[in-house]
Amino acid sequence: MTEIAYPPGGTKIHSENGRLQIPDRPIIGYIEGDGVGPELMTACRPVWDTAVRLAYGGRRRIHWCELFLGAKAAEKFDGEIFPEATLDAIRDLKVAIKGPLTTPVGSGHRSLNVSLRQALDLYACVRPVRYLPGVPSPMRHPEKVDLVIFRENTEDVYAGIELAAGSPEAESLRRFLEQRFGRRLPPACGLGVKPISERASKRLVRRAIRFALEKGRRSITLMHKGNIMKHTEGAFRQWGYQVAREEFADRVVAEQDLAAGSLPEGKVVIKDRIADILFQLLLLRPEDFDVIATPNLNGDYLSDAAAAQVGGVGIAPGANLGDEVAVFEATHGSAPKYAGLNKVNPGSLLLSGAMMLEHLGWNEAAGLIVEAYARTVQDGIVTYDFARQMARAREVGTREFLLHLTKRMTSLS
Ligand code: NAD
Repeated sequence: MTEIAYPPGGTKIHSENGRLQIPDRPIIGYIEGDGVGPELMTACRPVWDTAVRLAYGGRRRIHWCELFLGAKAAEKFDGEIFPEATLDAIRDLKVAIKGPLTTPVGSGHRSLNVSLRQALDLYACVRPVRYLPGVPSPMRHPEKVDLVIFRENTEDVYAGIELAAGSPEAESLRRFLEQRFGRRLPPACGLGVKPISERASKRLVRRAIRFALEKGRRSITLMHKGNIMKHTEGAFRQWGYQVAREEFADRVVAEQDLAAGSLPEGKVVIKDRIADILFQLLLLRPEDFDVIATPNLNGDYLSDAAAAQVGGVGIAPGANLGDEVAVFEATHGSAPKYAGLNKVNPGSLLLSGAMMLEHLGWNEAAGLIVEAYARTVQDGIVTYDFARQMARAREVGTREFLLHLTKRMTSLS
């Protein structure tokens, strides 16, 4: 069994009374991932380091510790793609960042991303969707998009209870539903289970509300399909309002209780929208949405759709948060056809790293990265995905893009 060795000179992040204590030289885990993951991680780590050095001189520095999942883990851990040692190290280090991991469709192993979120109880998937000036967008007013999606990360159809059509298990469940509840289903159908619990719904919405209050956001929208799935998505909506009413009554007002649409100073409004119309509203009136809390599958769809309004998954950052542990990640997949070509946009992983720096409270370093990213695109220096949407842009590879961005950061600091 391969041991994971922590780098010398760094100190572990620890938690005191539920608050993270961040040393100036924290050890942070990184997982390269599959496909384009290794080249992106190799290219982004020096950029994060440079941002920290520019912001704090030599006072602060990240000590990186490589952790393993997916194909690279299999090489190190006798074929094990999801080693317990990696999970233990993430729990111990409290903060990690990862590249994308490949999941076969239809057969083979379960998604490692889903397994990771469940094993570490990273219950909130947080995806900020914000327009950076200069980034190509299909919207006429992309600057109106500025929202943060809180997607429940541990339940819903992702719980992994699925039975194949024609299998004895599916047949047995089908017969049970018929005999016990009188519910008839077609023979030989695949079956899936969609668990949504009060505890998981409430902690997700609680986190979204706290975030909205801390960051001075104006609204929280509960996105659900409760008109059809009353006891799962409908219950999510109900529990969401309940948390707001019972725990945040002094600061959060339900939309239906607002007098003539006016929101009192210092308060946040909570409302709900059915999933299908929310997709439309996000295109037509994006300024109406601020923080969105939603069950897992809706959140998965919505995150990518919303990202498309401000540049696509190539630049959309994300984090998976538990009560103590946080894993930041590129939101796109492993893009296998581009692996090793130095071609893809490093924005998603890079900006996830900026989120990670904010999580540490290192906002100056995070700000440098975000600003330099926008300036680089405004200079017309972009990767292929943006180049094909822009009239006069110079297409460069991943590494060249980051070289330019690093120069920009240096001139900004
Ligand atoms: P993908 O995100 O890999 O690719 C979708 C499209 O986006 C492709 O055209 C790809 O070339 C492009 N793209 C992706 N990243 C880009 C980037 N950084 N810059 C520019 N263009 C980019 O999605 P997919 O093809 O559906 O999935 C491939 C594999 O990744 C699958 O095994 C899937 O399960 C996995 N996946 C992993 C994650 C994750 O680890 N969080 C997320 C989604 C998909």
